[in-house]
Amino acid sequence: MWRTAKISTSIDRGASRAFFANIRGVKNVFGMSRGELESELVAAGSPRFRGGQIYRSIYARGAQSFEEMTELSRQLREWLSRNYVIRRPQVRDRSLSKDGTRKLLIELEDKRQVETVYIPDGKRHTFCLSTQVGCPLKCTFCFSGTVRFERNLTPGEIVGQFLLAREELVSPPARSNIVFMGMGEPLLNVEGVDGSLEILSDDKACAVSPRRITLSTAGLPDELERFAIGHPAVGLAISLHATMNGNRSRIMPINRKHPLEELLAVARRLPLPRRRRITFEYVLLGGENDTRADAHRLASLLEGMNTKVNLITYNPWPGSPHIRTTSEAAESFMWILANVGITVSLRKSRGDDVLAACGQLAGSSTSTRL
Ligand code: SAH
Repeated sequence: MWRTAKISTSIDRGASRAFFANIRGVKNVFGMSRGELESELVAAGSPRFRGGQIYRSIYARGAQSFEEMTELSRQLREWLSRNYVIRRPQVRDRSLSKDGTRKLLIELEDKRQVETVYIPDGKRHTFCLSTQVGCPLKCTFCFSGTVRFERNLTPGEIVGQFLLAREELVSPPARSNIVFMGMGEPLLNVEGVDGSLEILSDDKACAVSPRRITLSTAGLPDELERFAIGHPAVGLAISLHATMNGNRSRIMPINRKHPLEELLAVARRLPLPRRRRITFEYVLLGGENDTRADAHRLASLLEGMNTKVNLITYNPWPGSPHIRTTSEAAESFMWILANVGITVSLRKSRGDDVLAACGQLAGSSTSTRL
């Protein structure tokens, strides 16, 4: 008998993917790549293209059982049902913000939980996905950093968030944006992120163009460079948040290992396709990094780079140690950057009344239920 409590404490992080794929002797196909599904089918004596058909059913049509796959023979469907399952993560709770932002609390197979956010915005619709349970980086302004890091998410758990969130909508958007900006540091989960990108961006699966996908990182220089080379069409955002090492190390401990100079040197040499720019995110913390001097320093740090700055208003959470900047300080910060020709935007808070805004995700629901 499968005992949840026992298993959730004994899983070792590296082995978790293989483990979840094979509970009770039947394999879970949800999260498998096209290649993996093809190999499974070929090993069982079926033609390779059957794997592709199952792949399309699972990710493009959202099939949740083999019985639904009427393009397959009854015999094959029965064989699949005996040997495999399609097991997705589960929605455990829902919150709806006054501005239409939705937050889902999603339970994984080992009962751990993550949050996924859907942000409607005119013609743009954005799904914000988590990549880890908790986060090891411990940025002081981020609620996710207060949650103990447990493990990386598998490709299936990342793709599952997208499908579950999209299915919640009465009329799903024709075109979706995806941002890897939920809980966790995506570049610390290369296997999960690469595996999910393959499925999310494949025309035969979730069909989200990689140009509509953005990965946000606290700044791991080597991983960033490798990712940019491996995924030239995916947008990149770097969480900068300070212009001096002392200040940045205080709020983002990762800066002690990889200081600003190292991060910016890598950012300058990233291969960006024509017309693509790298985004720098900068959360304005009242009295800490929002002075005119900071804005001028930021302008000179970014001089000559093809970049865009996304200023973010700080979203407080229970017990958070920072305060929001004033609207005057934010305006003047913005103008200083704009005056030297940097494209700059001020990100509005979405969903902050239900703790669904940037930096407020902590893997438990605290808010208005739907
Ligand atoms: N680990 C990644 C992605 C997760 S956070 C990263 O650091 O980029 C996504 C964005 O939200 C980052 O820019 C992050 O710095 C920002 N953020 C975190 N906490 C915030 C808060 N309380 N208010 C506003 N933005 C926050």
